[in-house]
Amino acid sequence: MGSLWHPFAQMGAVERDGAFVVARGEGSHVFDAEGRRYLDATAALWYANVGHGRTEIAEAVADQMSRIAAYTGFGDFATDVTEQLAERLAGIAPVPGSKIFFTSGGSDSIETAAKLARRYWAEIGQPGRHTIIGRQKAYHGSHWAGTALGGIPPNQEGLGGPLLPDVAHVSWDDPESLRGTIEQVGAENVAAFFCEPVIGAGGVYPPPEDYLLRARKICAELDVLFIADEVITGYGRIGGSWFASTRFGLEPDLITTAKGLTSGYLPMGAVLVAPRVAEPFFTGQAWFRHGYTYSGHAASAAAGLANLAIIERENLLESALGLEAKLMQRLAPIGELDAVAEIRGGVGALASVQLADPATAAAVSRELRDAGVIARPIGVGALQISPPLIFTDDDLDELVAGLQTVLG
Ligand code: PMP
Repeated sequence: MGSLWHPFAQMGAVERDGAFVVARGEGSHVFDAEGRRYLDATAALWYANVGHGRTEIAEAVADQMSRIAAYTGFGDFATDVTEQLAERLAGIAPVPGSKIFFTSGGSDSIETAAKLARRYWAEIGQPGRHTIIGRQKAYHGSHWAGTALGGIPPNQEGLGGPLLPDVAHVSWDDPESLRGTIEQVGAENVAAFFCEPVIGAGGVYPPPEDYLLRARKICAELDVLFIADEVITGYGRIGGSWFASTRFGLEPDLITTAKGLTSGYLPMGAVLVAPRVAEPFFTGQAWFRHGYTYSGHAASAAAGLANLAIIERENLLESALGLEAKLMQRLAPIGELDAVAEIRGGVGALASVQLADPATAAAVSRELRDAGVIARPIGVGALQISPPLIFTDDDLDELVAGLQTVLG
């Protein structure tokens, strides 16, 4: 029996079958302890956008660590790399003049944005605006606000009592459901709406045509803050631009990010705060009494800068657009198999294979891994496909062959 308690795991099964220990990674592949090679069709947990084994990032981190690994950013403290990364993110932010609040990861970014939304309204004299709205099928991380906002019921069960109060849920695909709920609660009571541009962990559901712009417009009309959760979609995964918000013209009030910011080489998240929300805290006496020991961690910031440099130099925003088309084209025949109900995707380097029998997902993903392809179960019986943005045509061949073997 091992001592490690795995996140999101049925530990009884892990105890019985043993852990799958990843020893090494190189590009779009990882290797187990015996040296066996696997195609990483999920970029780990949607994050390894530049692929594995980039010594350039390791060197940037080592260099930073040998100067100073980290120093608190509380109060007026900063490190030079943290400031540089904030400037870099402000430069690519969908809303010009955004301020950057660093966190330790995606759940922290959600918690930060949820608190900041309410803190903003209180600061400008509307403390009644404290209800936060999420969508069905949404995943917003594991902290309390994100757990309450999420729309995947099993994640909210068995916790013995009420979650965050003043949270409402709306349909994932009908913007009028958002308008109806805001009007029902009363716009004067609503702080914010959280929205994944493409629903990720809930099963990869791209938004219906016009959904995002209409939802954005409803929030603008009723003066509800629009928060784009780009933890998965940010930093290139959506293709064509750094953020889905730019591609879809959303201009969110807040954007939550993590994952692709460092491609997971070190943990880090960031909240991009539009001038409207930041302004009261930058001009007056107001404070945001919130932050993490590792907010703006210097070694993580060095990893982020090196990672973003690779995405830019290797044109990975274009590669993601290329993968958008190729994934749907190459997965189409898999969608015809009896074991498969549908292929979802078509927005960025993101797709899922919905199995006809959801109960088989764990076994299928295990079989697929035994066949050399990693594609984990998500949503209700779907397989996650979110490759590193460096995925080649050979990698696509390998993915399709694996799926064909196991599902055909
Ligand atoms: N939001 C979204 C959309 C996510 O996909 C995730 C993680 N999968 C999170 C938030 C939480 O991020 P983390 O696991 O880094 O806390």
